[in-house]
Amino acid sequence: MEKIRRQRNLKIVATLGPASDTKEMMRALFLAGADVFRLNMSHGSQEEIAGRHARIREVEKELGRPICILADLQGPKLRCGVFANGPEMLEEGATFRFDLDPAEGDATRVCLPHPEIFAALVEGSVLLVNDGKIKLRVTERSDSHAVTTVEVGGEISNRKGVNVPDVVLPLAALSPKDRSDLEFVCELGVDWLALSFVQRPEDVTEARTLARGRAAILSKIEKPAAVQAYSEILEVSDGIMVARGDLGVELPVQELPPIQKRLVRGARAAGKPVIVATQMLESMITAPVPTRAEVSDVAAAIYEGADAVMLSAESAAGDYPVEAVTTMDKVARSVEGDQFYRQVIEASRVAQRLSVADAMTAAAREVAETVKIQAICCFSQTGTTALLAARERPRVPIIALTPDINTARRLCLSWGLHCVQVETVNRFKMAVLSGAKVARDYGFSSEVQQIIVMAGVPFNTPGSTNIMRVALCNEKAIYEGWDEE
Ligand code: ATP
Ligand code: MG
Ligand code: MG
Repeated sequence: MEKIRRQRNLKIVATLGPASDTKEMMRALFLAGADVFRLNMSHGSQEEIAGRHARIREVEKELGRPICILADLQGPKLRCGVFANGPEMLEEGATFRFDLDPAEGDATRVCLPHPEIFAALVEGSVLLVNDGKIKLRVTERSDSHAVTTVEVGGEISNRKGVNVPDVVLPLAALSPKDRSDLEFVCELGVDWLALSFVQRPEDVTEARTLARGRAAILSKIEKPAAVQAYSEILEVSDGIMVARGDLGVELPVQELPPIQKRLVRGARAAGKPVIVATQMLESMITAPVPTRAEVSDVAAAIYEGADAVMLSAESAAGDYPVEAVTTMDKVARSVEGDQFYRQVIEASRVAQRLSVADAMTAAAREVAETVKIQAICCFSQTGTTALLAARERPRVPIIALTPDINTARRLCLSWGLHCVQVETVNRFKMAVLSGAKVARDYGFSSEVQQIIVMAGVPFNTPGSTNIMRVALCNEKAIYEGWDEE
């Protein structure tokens, strides 16, 4: 079987849903270029999530490449109930009612199972539905219902998000559902937990305590408060998502581009993966080709140096999931091939270098860009070395080698990392031999070309990178070039 390798540094996250529920579709999405699958806990029961999870792991096994799974916790998001006859069209000027009645909705009403909203609404309050696409104004309310007039119409359907922009709601970071989902997915075995509506660093540490090391923690930045407290939140998170859907409802949309740039910069400097998400190829939900503006938006995220871009409904509920992934893959290859891309990436490198490991990974990049090097191989148990190497955004590919499959999977989200699970090594020479084999097997290097191998030795003490070797990519040369043992 031919070994699978991406021809780009950018990573692609694809949300799974009804349009991508079969194993065949998941395999097709992975082969088209999806590196990470997102399970959205807002849609689908725990049983459905477990089924998707199992099918991803089957595909992983069949294809022999680690696949990263990100479980996205709903968080304190307000959502409406379900509709009896599918999506309903709300026309401008119409009257629409929200109430606590759990009965299925229709064109005149739907359940909004959040008494705290009704308590907080006043006459004249605005409700926004589906990432702000529909706008309604409250004309009459009680503690159990609100009658609204449709100001901007659109389609409303099952469990669409509802925002109340001018009302501050007293909400806990993790609802009872989130706690139950968190435990459920941690037991299933996911690589990342995404936290929705993070507002304070304490929200992140609370989830981390509950996760007990079973998954890395990614904070979705979608509240103005989180933008304010970004550095503190970044500090305690393992990764970041620029969740533009709700952020663009909570803040004026024109504020999103500078915020996106700032968030991506910050995460890059910290060496933590950052995903740009929402509406990236929105028109591909119903069309096989994207708009020019969408292609430019994906490209902008790549030029900013984001680790990953994400598909939401495009891959979860759209008509062209594979085409959407293929589009992102093609855009990434085109942008990364542009010489201007290197200039932009280098000009925006802001790594703070304080440790031996920081300096070593920077040195590896320098060496790789001075002489002809085919790949930088990073050995690590926990992935720290590989993350530092990715932070440098080098011109040459990075191979992350680890004996721990969970590390390999988690690192798949990070820029440029080709992750491979290998046997445990206990001598640096073994690491060099192993790195050379992987580099050859995946076609990064031939026997007469050179690679860099980095590691932290001794191997059995979890420490940081302190050794680097430039080696010809063949066993004989590695043995002959060694002056001990
Ligand atoms: P979030 O705020 O977490 O992004 P969302 O409702 O925007 O939640 P996405 O995962 O971004 O959800 O997907 C966008 C849309 O795709 C959803 O609103 C929903 O209509 C549809 N969708 C996604 N996943 C599923 C699913 N598993 N089942 C049904 N519909 C889904
Ligand atoms: Mg959201
Ligand atoms: Mg969304």
